[in-house]
Amino acid sequence: VKQHRRGSYGFFSPEISDQLMAQRALADDIRRGLAAGEFFVEYQPRFDTRERTIRSVEALVRWSHPQRGRISPAEFIPVAERCGLIGALGGWVLRTACAAAAAWPGIGVSVNVSPIQFRDDGLLGVVAEALAAAGLAPERLEIEITEGVLLEDAERARRLLDGLKGLGVRLAMDDFGTGYSSLIYLHNFPFDVIKIDRQFVADIEHRQSGRAVVQAILSLGRALGLSVTAEGVETIGQLAALTIDQCSEVQGFLLAKPMPGGHIAALLAQAGAA
Ligand code: C2E
Ligand code: CA
Ligand code: CA
Ligand code: CA
Repeated sequence: VKQHRRGSYGFFSPEISDQLMAQRALADDIRRGLAAGEFFVEYQPRFDTRERTIRSVEALVRWSHPQRGRISPAEFIPVAERCGLIGALGGWVLRTACAAAAAWPGIGVSVNVSPIQFRDDGLLGVVAEALAAAGLAPERLEIEITEGVLLEDAERARRLLDGLKGLGVRLAMDDFGTGYSSLIYLHNFPFDVIKIDRQFVADIEHRQSGRAVVQAILSLGRALGLSVTAEGVETIGQLAALTIDQCSEVQGFLLAKPMPGGHIAALLAQAGAA
Protein backbone atom coordinates (compact mmCIF):
# COMPACT_ATOMS: atom_id res chain seq x y z
CA VAL A 1 0.00 0.00 0.00
CA LYS A 2 2.92 2.30 0.80
CA GLN A 3 3.97 2.73 -2.86
CA HIS A 4 0.79 4.69 -3.62
CA ARG A 5 1.91 8.29 -3.66
CA ARG A 6 -0.09 11.38 -2.91
CA GLY A 7 -2.32 12.16 -5.89
CA SER A 8 -3.10 8.58 -6.74
CA TYR A 9 -6.74 7.89 -6.14
CA GLY A 10 -8.76 5.01 -4.84
CA PHE A 11 -6.43 4.38 -1.93
CA PHE A 12 -5.83 6.02 1.38
CA SER A 13 -2.85 8.36 1.60
CA PRO A 14 0.33 6.75 2.96
CA GLU A 15 -0.10 8.68 6.21
CA ILE A 16 -3.57 7.27 6.76
CA SER A 17 -2.65 3.73 5.83
CA ASP A 18 0.31 3.92 8.24
CA GLN A 19 -2.12 4.99 10.94
CA LEU A 20 -4.47 2.15 10.08
CA MET A 21 -1.63 -0.33 10.25
CA ALA A 22 -0.51 1.02 13.61
CA GLN A 23 -4.07 0.71 14.83
CA ARG A 24 -4.31 -2.87 13.61
CA ALA A 25 -1.05 -3.70 15.35
CA LEU A 26 -2.32 -2.14 18.59
CA ALA A 27 -5.59 -4.07 18.25
CA ASP A 28 -3.67 -7.35 17.92
CA ASP A 29 -1.63 -6.33 20.93
CA ILE A 30 -4.78 -5.62 22.98
CA ARG A 31 -6.14 -9.06 22.08
CA ARG A 32 -2.85 -10.64 23.11
CA GLY A 33 -2.63 -8.56 26.29
CA LEU A 34 -6.14 -9.57 27.33
CA ALA A 35 -5.26 -13.24 26.96
CA ALA A 36 -1.94 -12.71 28.76
CA GLY A 37 -3.56 -10.95 31.73
CA GLU A 38 -1.77 -7.64 31.22
CA PHE A 39 -4.84 -5.53 32.00
CA PHE A 40 -5.85 -4.60 35.50
CA VAL A 41 -8.22 -2.19 37.18
CA GLU A 42 -7.49 0.74 39.47
CA TYR A 43 -10.08 2.45 41.62
CA GLN A 44 -10.39 6.15 42.36
CA PRO A 45 -12.39 7.10 45.47
CA ARG A 46 -15.39 9.44 45.22
CA PHE A 47 -15.96 11.32 48.44
CA ASP A 48 -19.03 12.70 50.13
CA THR A 49 -18.12 16.40 50.05
CA ARG A 50 -19.43 17.27 53.52
CA GLU A 51 -18.53 14.14 55.45
CA ARG A 52 -15.28 13.48 53.56
CA THR A 53 -16.03 9.75 53.55
CA ILE A 54 -15.64 7.39 50.60
CA ARG A 55 -19.04 6.77 49.02
CA SER A 56 -17.90 4.79 46.03
CA VAL A 57 -14.97 4.25 43.69
CA GLU A 58 -14.62 4.59 39.92
CA ALA A 59 -13.08 1.62 38.13
CA LEU A 60 -10.43 2.69 35.58
CA VAL A 61 -8.80 0.13 33.31
CA ARG A 62 -5.01 -0.05 33.10
CA TRP A 63 -2.63 -1.80 30.73
CA SER A 64 0.87 -2.79 31.73
CA HIS A 65 2.50 -3.55 28.39
CA PRO A 66 5.58 -5.83 28.52
CA GLN A 67 7.60 -3.53 26.20
CA ARG A 68 5.93 -0.15 26.39
CA GLY A 69 5.08 -0.06 30.08
CA ARG A 70 1.84 1.65 31.07
CA ILE A 71 -0.35 2.68 28.16
CA SER A 72 -3.12 5.20 28.83
CA PRO A 73 -6.75 4.14 28.35
CA ALA A 74 -7.11 7.37 26.34
CA GLU A 75 -4.90 5.62 23.75
CA PHE A 76 -6.16 2.04 23.78
CA ILE A 77 -9.89 2.45 24.52
CA PRO A 78 -10.61 4.23 21.21
CA VAL A 79 -8.73 1.48 19.34
CA ALA A 80 -10.58 -1.24 21.25
CA GLU A 81 -13.81 0.55 20.30
CA ARG A 82 -12.95 0.67 16.61
CA CYS A 83 -11.62 -2.87 16.41
CA GLY A 84 -14.47 -4.76 18.05
CA LEU A 85 -12.59 -5.46 21.29
CA ILE A 86 -14.39 -3.11 23.66
CA GLY A 87 -17.07 -5.70 24.40
CA ALA A 88 -14.51 -8.21 25.68
CA LEU A 89 -12.43 -5.59 27.50
CA GLY A 90 -15.43 -3.76 28.95
CA GLY A 91 -17.09 -6.98 30.09
CA TRP A 92 -13.89 -8.00 31.84
CA VAL A 93 -13.65 -4.63 33.63
CA LEU A 94 -17.27 -4.94 34.74
CA ARG A 95 -16.80 -8.44 36.17
CA THR A 96 -13.52 -7.48 37.85
CA ALA A 97 -14.96 -4.32 39.41
CA CYS A 98 -18.11 -6.08 40.69
CA ALA A 99 -16.03 -8.84 42.24
CA ALA A 100 -13.75 -6.29 43.93
CA ALA A 101 -16.65 -4.22 45.25
CA ALA A 102 -18.39 -7.26 46.69
CA ALA A 103 -15.42 -7.71 49.03
CA TRP A 104 -15.62 -4.10 50.32
CA PRO A 105 -18.05 -3.09 53.03
CA GLY A 106 -20.95 -1.06 51.69
CA ILE A 107 -19.35 1.28 49.18
CA GLY A 108 -20.41 1.43 45.55
CA VAL A 109 -18.42 1.02 42.37
CA SER A 110 -18.87 2.86 39.08
CA VAL A 111 -17.83 1.42 35.74
CA ASN A 112 -17.38 3.29 32.45
CA VAL A 113 -19.37 1.77 29.62
CA SER A 114 -18.48 2.72 26.05
CA PRO A 115 -21.14 3.89 23.58
CA ILE A 116 -20.09 0.93 21.43
CA GLN A 117 -21.10 -1.49 24.20
CA PHE A 118 -24.52 0.16 24.09
CA ARG A 119 -24.97 -0.98 20.50
CA ASP A 120 -25.24 -4.54 21.77
CA ASP A 121 -28.45 -5.64 23.46
CA GLY A 122 -26.35 -8.28 25.20
CA LEU A 123 -25.11 -5.55 27.56
CA LEU A 124 -28.03 -6.12 29.96
CA GLY A 125 -27.13 -9.79 30.29
CA VAL A 126 -23.45 -8.97 30.78
CA VAL A 127 -24.29 -6.59 33.64
CA ALA A 128 -26.78 -9.00 35.24
CA GLU A 129 -24.24 -11.83 35.07
CA ALA A 130 -21.43 -9.71 36.52
CA LEU A 131 -23.67 -8.77 39.47
CA ALA A 132 -24.80 -12.35 40.04
CA ALA A 133 -21.29 -13.83 39.74
CA ALA A 134 -19.97 -11.32 42.29
CA GLY A 135 -23.02 -11.49 44.55
CA LEU A 136 -23.10 -7.69 44.45
CA ALA A 137 -26.34 -5.84 45.28
CA PRO A 138 -27.35 -3.98 42.07
CA GLU A 139 -27.70 -0.61 43.82
CA ARG A 140 -23.98 -0.75 44.57
CA LEU A 141 -23.13 -0.66 40.86
CA GLU A 142 -23.22 2.55 38.87
CA ILE A 143 -22.82 2.68 35.10
CA GLU A 144 -21.11 5.81 33.74
CA ILE A 145 -22.05 6.74 30.21
CA THR A 146 -21.41 9.74 28.01
CA GLU A 147 -24.19 11.40 26.07
CA GLY A 148 -22.75 10.03 22.82
CA VAL A 149 -24.76 6.93 23.66
CA LEU A 150 -27.98 8.88 23.53
CA LEU A 151 -27.16 10.73 20.33
CA GLU A 152 -26.67 7.59 18.31
CA ASP A 153 -30.02 5.93 18.68
CA ALA A 154 -32.23 7.42 21.36
CA GLU A 155 -34.87 4.67 21.21
CA ARG A 156 -32.41 1.89 21.72
CA ALA A 157 -30.57 3.87 24.41
CA ARG A 158 -33.82 4.36 26.30
CA ARG A 159 -34.57 0.63 26.13
CA LEU A 160 -31.16 -0.25 27.50
CA LEU A 161 -31.13 2.45 30.18
CA ASP A 162 -34.63 1.43 31.33
CA GLY A 163 -33.40 -2.17 31.36
CA LEU A 164 -30.41 -1.23 33.50
CA LYS A 165 -32.67 0.73 35.89
CA GLY A 166 -34.87 -2.36 35.96
CA LEU A 167 -31.91 -4.38 37.21
CA GLY A 168 -31.54 -1.82 40.00
CA VAL A 169 -28.21 -0.25 39.01
CA ARG A 170 -27.53 3.48 39.15
CA LEU A 171 -26.84 5.57 36.05
CA ALA A 172 -24.40 8.45 35.79
CA MET A 173 -23.98 10.89 32.93
CA ASP A 174 -20.21 11.23 32.58
CA ASP A 175 -18.33 14.29 31.30
CA PHE A 176 -21.47 16.36 31.67
CA GLY A 177 -21.47 19.54 29.59
CA THR A 178 -18.77 18.54 27.11
CA GLY A 179 -21.12 17.33 24.36
CA TYR A 180 -23.89 18.86 22.32
CA SER A 181 -27.16 18.48 24.10
CA SER A 182 -26.69 17.13 27.59
CA LEU A 183 -29.62 19.18 28.85
CA ILE A 184 -32.22 17.57 26.61
CA TYR A 185 -31.10 14.10 27.59
CA LEU A 186 -30.82 14.73 31.26
CA HIS A 187 -34.50 14.86 32.01
CA ASN A 188 -35.56 12.42 29.30
CA PHE A 189 -33.48 9.52 30.58
CA PRO A 190 -33.38 7.90 34.01
CA PHE A 191 -30.08 9.25 35.34
CA ASP A 192 -29.22 9.30 39.04
CA VAL A 193 -25.95 11.21 38.88
CA ILE A 194 -24.31 13.98 36.87
CA LYS A 195 -20.52 13.99 36.72
CA ILE A 196 -19.21 17.49 36.04
CA ASP A 197 -16.29 17.27 33.64
CA ARG A 198 -12.97 18.36 35.01
CA GLN A 199 -12.65 21.22 32.47
CA PHE A 200 -15.46 22.98 34.34
CA VAL A 201 -13.87 22.24 37.70
CA ALA A 202 -10.57 23.71 36.47
CA ASP A 203 -12.47 26.81 35.30
CA ILE A 204 -13.70 27.50 38.85
CA GLU A 205 -10.34 29.15 39.44
CA HIS A 206 -9.08 29.88 35.92
CA ARG A 207 -11.99 31.96 34.68
CA GLN A 208 -14.28 34.54 36.22
CA SER A 209 -17.42 32.88 34.94
CA GLY A 210 -16.22 29.36 35.73
CA ARG A 211 -17.79 29.13 39.14
CA ALA A 212 -21.10 30.46 37.85
CA VAL A 213 -21.23 27.63 35.28
CA VAL A 214 -20.58 25.01 37.97
CA GLN A 215 -23.20 26.61 40.21
CA ALA A 216 -25.71 26.43 37.36
CA ILE A 217 -25.03 22.70 36.89
CA LEU A 218 -25.39 22.15 40.64
CA SER A 219 -28.74 23.90 40.80
CA LEU A 220 -29.90 21.97 37.76
CA GLY A 221 -28.93 18.77 39.56
CA ARG A 222 -30.88 19.83 42.65
CA ALA A 223 -33.94 20.77 40.59
CA LEU A 224 -33.94 17.36 38.90
CA GLY A 225 -33.20 15.49 42.12
CA LEU A 226 -29.84 14.21 40.88
CA SER A 227 -26.64 13.74 42.80
CA VAL A 228 -23.71 15.73 41.37
CA THR A 229 -20.08 14.58 41.39
CA ALA A 230 -17.30 17.01 40.50
CA GLU A 231 -14.40 15.33 38.70
CA GLY A 232 -10.75 16.35 38.58
CA VAL A 233 -10.64 18.28 41.86
CA GLU A 234 -6.97 19.25 42.16
CA THR A 235 -6.84 22.27 44.46
CA ILE A 236 -8.02 23.36 47.88
CA GLY A 237 -9.65 26.37 46.24
CA GLN A 238 -11.80 24.16 44.00
CA LEU A 239 -12.76 21.93 46.92
CA ALA A 240 -13.71 24.94 49.05
CA ALA A 241 -15.91 26.39 46.30
CA LEU A 242 -17.59 23.01 45.65
CA THR A 243 -18.22 22.55 49.37
CA ILE A 244 -19.80 25.99 49.74
CA ASP A 245 -21.88 25.44 46.60
CA GLN A 246 -23.13 22.10 47.99
CA CYS A 247 -21.80 19.73 45.38
CA SER A 248 -22.67 16.26 46.73
CA GLU A 249 -19.53 14.34 45.76
CA VAL A 250 -15.94 15.15 44.82
CA GLN A 251 -13.32 13.12 43.01
CA GLY A 252 -9.80 14.11 42.05
CA PHE A 253 -6.07 13.96 42.64
CA LEU A 254 -6.31 16.36 45.61
CA LEU A 255 -8.30 13.74 47.53
CA ALA A 256 -7.05 10.45 46.06
CA LYS A 257 -5.53 9.13 42.86
CA PRO A 258 -6.65 5.90 41.20
CA MET A 259 -5.14 3.00 43.14
CA PRO A 260 -5.07 -0.80 43.27
CA GLY A 261 -8.06 -2.51 44.87
CA GLY A 262 -5.96 -3.65 47.82
CA HIS A 263 -5.29 -0.04 48.78
CA ILE A 264 -9.01 0.71 48.79
CA ALA A 265 -9.59 -2.14 51.20
CA ALA A 266 -6.84 -0.75 53.46
CA LEU A 267 -8.25 2.82 53.29
CA LEU A 268 -11.69 1.57 54.27
CA ALA A 269 -10.29 -0.50 57.13
CA GLN A 270 -8.43 2.59 58.39
CA ALA A 271 -11.52 4.76 58.19
CA GLY A 272 -13.56 2.08 59.95
CA ALA A 273 -11.02 1.85 62.75
CA ALA A 274 -10.78 5.62 63.16
P1 C2E B 1 -13.11 9.47 32.64
O1 C2E B 1 -14.20 8.45 32.70
O2 C2E B 1 -13.54 10.88 32.56
O3 C2E B 1 -12.20 9.18 33.89
C1 C2E B 1 -11.57 10.16 34.68
C2 C2E B 1 -10.14 10.35 34.26
O4 C2E B 1 -9.61 11.49 34.93
C3 C2E B 1 -9.22 9.18 34.63
O5 C2E B 1 -8.20 9.12 33.63
C4 C2E B 1 -8.63 9.67 35.96
O6 C2E B 1 -7.40 9.05 36.28
C5 C2E B 1 -8.45 11.13 35.65
N1 C2E B 1 -8.43 11.96 36.86
C6 C2E B 1 -9.01 11.73 38.05
N2 C2E B 1 -8.80 12.76 38.91
C7 C2E B 1 -8.06 13.67 38.23
C8 C2E B 1 -7.50 14.95 38.56
O7 C2E B 1 -7.65 15.48 39.66
N3 C2E B 1 -6.81 15.59 37.58
C9 C2E B 1 -6.63 15.07 36.34
N4 C2E B 1 -5.91 15.77 35.45
N5 C2E B 1 -7.13 13.85 35.99
C10 C2E B 1 -7.84 13.16 36.93
P2 C2E B 1 -7.78 7.73 32.97
O8 C2E B 1 -7.82 6.63 33.99
O9 C2E B 1 -6.53 7.98 32.21
O10 C2E B 1 -8.97 7.44 31.96
C11 C2E B 1 -9.18 8.26 30.83
C12 C2E B 1 -10.49 7.92 30.17
O11 C2E B 1 -10.44 6.59 29.62
C13 C2E B 1 -11.69 7.90 31.13
O12 C2E B 1 -12.15 9.21 31.35
C14 C2E B 1 -12.65 7.05 30.34
O13 C2E B 1 -13.30 7.82 29.35
C15 C2E B 1 -11.73 6.05 29.68
N6 C2E B 1 -11.72 4.81 30.47
C16 C2E B 1 -10.97 4.45 31.53
N7 C2E B 1 -11.29 3.20 31.96
C17 C2E B 1 -12.29 2.77 31.15
C18 C2E B 1 -13.06 1.56 31.06
O14 C2E B 1 -12.91 0.61 31.86
N8 C2E B 1 -14.00 1.47 30.06
C19 C2E B 1 -14.21 2.52 29.19
N9 C2E B 1 -15.14 2.38 28.24
N10 C2E B 1 -13.51 3.67 29.25
C20 C2E B 1 -12.56 3.79 30.21
CA1 CA C 1 -15.90 8.15 34.05
CA1 CA D 1 -15.46 11.89 33.28
CA1 CA E 1 -13.85 11.24 29.60
